[in-house]
Amino acid sequence: KLYNQVQDLKGNIRVYCRVRPFLDGQSSFMSTVEHIEKGDIVITTPSKYGKEGRKSFSFNKVFGPNATQAEVFSDTRSLIRSVLDGYNVCIFAYGQTGSGKTFTMVREAAHYDYDDNVDDCEIRNSSQNRINVPDANLVPVSSTNDVIEMMNLGQKNRAVGATAMNDRSSRSHSCLTVHVQGRDLASGTILRGSMHLVDLAGSERVDKSEVTGDRLKEAQHINKSLSALGDVIASLAQKNAHVPYRNSKLTQLLQDSLGGQAKTLMFVHISPELEALGETISTLKFAERVA
Ligand code: ADP
Ligand code: MG
Repeated sequence: KLYNQVQDLKGNIRVYCRVRPFLDGQSSFMSTVEHIEKGDIVITTPSKYGKEGRKSFSFNKVFGPNATQAEVFSDTRSLIRSVLDGYNVCIFAYGQTGSGKTFTMVREAAHYDYDDNVDDCEIRNSSQNRINVPDANLVPVSSTNDVIEMMNLGQKNRAVGATAMNDRSSRSHSCLTVHVQGRDLASGTILRGSMHLVDLAGSERVDKSEVTGDRLKEAQHINKSLSALGDVIASLAQKNAHVPYRNSKLTQLLQDSLGGQAKTLMFVHISPELEALGETISTLKFAERVA
């Protein structure tokens, strides 16, 4: 409860940045990350790659390549607890393909993934004014094991899609929602909270000269929905009167959990290697806009 009061003073939107470590075989690669301290990250461009420069970005927190899953999770524990107090919470993973989004969202906590291309779903308001997604399954769970089983099922579904169509998983948004209902034992009040874990489609820009037809349309569609999400979070952060939820199905679907009393955590991911510099800068700019 105290945590929530503190959070309310700070605002309900937080942005964390996470840098993934170099992977096997990348040990000789150059890093663009010069310095990380608390919420600040400094990116450099070596001179032989054009104009040498430093750019610094500030967030609520930056996790460097050595940060463990345990550290990352312990930082989000109180946010997740607030779901039990009846809050709606949205945790997003943003970043280019390969930057560590799925690792942050699923790795070692449990292996799950709930694949659901929200742009293909029909979204309608039921009589209770709650958003329904007819193609999604709502499954009652009563234990951690039940949840892990559901996660495994979703992971399997996504894996099937991936083999059939060449890593389709990075070209769709994936959303796992946990609804929690509880009763305050003292007052008898029913509390309802929810948590959305959203593993977003890869944010990389595609080269129009390289893809055509359906692939280009798909890429444009993804970029549109990510920028619509950015617009919504930025206007919430700026406390604008008008929040443009209706510009994408993603933001429509999550409308109840973005803004108002809801709490949002955006995890932006970057890859450290020089080859990723362009995407790294555009990811950090996106994140700075919503922070
Ligand atoms: P994305 O979901 O953004 O496409 P992944 O989560 O699949 O990226 O990560 C790409 C690769 O990097 C995977 O092999 C993953 O295990 C590894 N990886 C990502 N983040 C970390 C990390 N923090 N520590 C160790 N390995 C990581
Ligand atoms: Mg992924």
